[in-house]
Amino acid sequence: MEIYFDNAATTPVSQTARDAMMVALTEEYGNPSSLHHKGRTANERLEEARASIAKDLNADPGEIYFTSGGSEADNWAITQAAELGARRGKKHIISTVFEHHAVLHTLKKLQKQGFEVTLLPVHEDGLVRVEEVKAALREDTALVTIMYANNEVGTIQPIPEIGALCRARRIPFHTDAVQAVGHIPVDVKADQIDYLSLSGHKFHGPKGVGVLYCRRGMYLTNFIEGGAQERGKRGGTEALPNIMGMAAALHESVEHMDENIKKVTALRNKLIEGLRPIPASYVNGDLNHRVPGNVSMCFEGVEGESLLLRLDLAGICGSSGSACTSGSLEPSHVLLSIGLPVEVAHGSLRLSLSEWNTEAEVDEVLKQLPEIVYSLRQMSPVWEDMLAEGKVRNVVMEEN
Ligand SMILES: *Cc1c(COP(=O)(O)O)cnc(C)c1O
Repeated sequence: MEIYFDNAATTPVSQTARDAMMVALTEEYGNPSSLHHKGRTANERLEEARASIAKDLNADPGEIYFTSGGSEADNWAITQAAELGARRGKKHIISTVFEHHAVLHTLKKLQKQGFEVTLLPVHEDGLVRVEEVKAALREDTALVTIMYANNEVGTIQPIPEIGALCRARRIPFHTDAVQAVGHIPVDVKADQIDYLSLSGHKFHGPKGVGVLYCRRGMYLTNFIEGGAQERGKRGGTEALPNIMGMAAALHESVEHMDENIKKVTALRNKLIEGLRPIPASYVNGDLNHRVPGNVSMCFEGVEGESLLLRLDLAGICGSSGSACTSGSLEPSHVLLSIGLPVEVAHGSLRLSLSEWNTEAEVDEVLKQLPEIVYSLRQMSPVWEDMLAEGKVRNVVMEEN
């Protein structure tokens, strides 16, 4: 049995998205900028996709800009807000310690260019506090950028409250909503968001395509110089197959959102309840403010990488930390940010489910995983020392 529980890293492409892509890959291959009928048809498809995505976010089509993915949208939103801020003498940016690296590394670059960056802490529950955002706002704040849902622990941040706070002070607000869009309701108007990033491949669309939403009237600089595509702000022939696939996948997710949330939450809860009895195991982050598919746990005395390899041998795909940090032996910056000690963060496992997963798959993981943890601990000198020194806390982090 092959079990794919790594949907926060990427998702398989849905049949609906594949069908939409196939249209652009075969009959409607025109360049949307061409004036002949092939071009005009392609342009119609492009604008249909834009309108469909706008509708699914409660935005206007004129507020949607296609990008190569979530990372590009993050880079674009943040660098342009910085550019505008600098022109107005505002060189302060507020974000959080547990953002995706597409945000953190962009901020680091800006720091080198003289920007002051306040990275707010994240609490043990995996949540940012609105009062702390409020307290950090300054006269010279050019941008607040805080993710909608975290990619490792799955916690959903108080975005509508932060949006209202920024709107009242007329401070631009960007959110990396890559882990939220398609999974939980996101409404850019109700949430008072100025800039939002999303990515096609996190909700059963193709890779290499995303969106930057920019609220009408908000400033947006050119990101790629070239042709007149994306209102002249991002040159380059549009990736029509990807764009059509993404629009179809998003619409399907939004249409089935209620039932998907119900199904995935039930699977997730079953998985967590089944894993809780493992001694010295912890669930990371708040269980109520969490995207439906996320299970993030730590197992003391176990090495996350070994755990992944053993799961992989059993046909189970999971993740330790995010895909971007795994491969290095550094524990995840996200898990450290919510206060986990380094040695505990090393034993982390993220299983991320989608509506394509089944109860039989959850049962199989519940059969395999406890045995793997037990056998790894048998071989672990760290675990032996912990037992000998009475350091193993046979408790599970309390949920609220
Ligand atoms: C996956 C992800 C990204 C990057 O999106 P790409 O389309 O892969 O560039 C950015 N932010 C978060 C929170 C993500 O999970």
